[in-house]
Amino acid sequence: MNKDIATPIRTKEILNKYGFSFKKSLGQNFLIDPNILRNIVSHADLTDESGAIEVGPGIGALTEHLARAAKKVVSFEIDQRLLPVLEDTLSPYDNVKIVHSDILKADVKKVIEEEMPGIEDIMVVANLPYYVTTPILLKLLNDRLPIRGFVVMMQKEVADRITAKPGTKEYGSLSIAIQYYVTAEVAMVVPKTVFMPQPNVDSAVIRLIKHSEPPVKVLNEDFLFEVTRASFAQRRKTILNNLQSGLTSGKEKKELILEALEKAGVEPSRRGETLSIQEFGVLADALYPHFGKGK
Ligand code: SAM
Repeated sequence: MNKDIATPIRTKEILNKYGFSFKKSLGQNFLIDPNILRNIVSHADLTDESGAIEVGPGIGALTEHLARAAKKVVSFEIDQRLLPVLEDTLSPYDNVKIVHSDILKADVKKVIEEEMPGIEDIMVVANLPYYVTTPILLKLLNDRLPIRGFVVMMQKEVADRITAKPGTKEYGSLSIAIQYYVTAEVAMVVPKTVFMPQPNVDSAVIRLIKHSEPPVKVLNEDFLFEVTRASFAQRRKTILNNLQSGLTSGKEKKELILEALEKAGVEPSRRGETLSIQEFGVLADALYPHFGKGK
């Protein structure tokens, strides 16, 4: 087996060879601990028939572990300066495709079709750039990719919000926006010392597995997310007050909201953080005829 890229010595060697300087603005914190990488990959349950999609290979630390575990790896990197580095570090692996692109602008579905024909089990596995964690996850979920799920590293605070359960202070519209599509759990908490340079915040790896069916069927998904965002706008306010300020105005707004809350079996004095996704779904459907698009 080839020597790991992700040891402090080898990483420094590679960075020196290419005179590479980290760009903080691109969230470049590289992993320098092979044990953590093995752990991340093991949480993805890959086989030699699987595909792995990576966001941000850096100098290839995680990419090479994925290349060893999966049939094919496709990795999207925004920073052009890393392309010659990756060509060098990943040269022992013939099952890796690097795509030079901003993941937020990439047509990932098309790339999967072209690069992973016949592969049925696909996971997104990445040490995400922290400045765009949430937009990346929401984009990849909204793209409706043919994937099983995600194993991704991010700042711990965001990981806690994504995986939060109702009734906790971390639970909010982000928890719902993600858990509508996937089951979400923290797989491991990661110390700062395994990165170069070390980030200012703590990190965690989360595991997201796609639901075969959404946890609640709604008339309009966008409207469900609009209702949840409105319900959490001011955490100390009741759901009634938040909905009154958040939903686009109409005549007799308060009465219509009260009617919908009653129909959904939700006390107007409750706070957003106490409602499950199922309750939000029923409430969104009750509000939709009055406050949905075009109303
Ligand atoms: N996977 C490497 C590792 O674990 O050592 C690097 C992870 S580093 C946290 C994030 C990587 O994402 C960097 O290589 C950075 O250049 C890249 N990146 C940042 N923004 C990106 C974007 N919008 N699209 C694709 N890659 C991006």
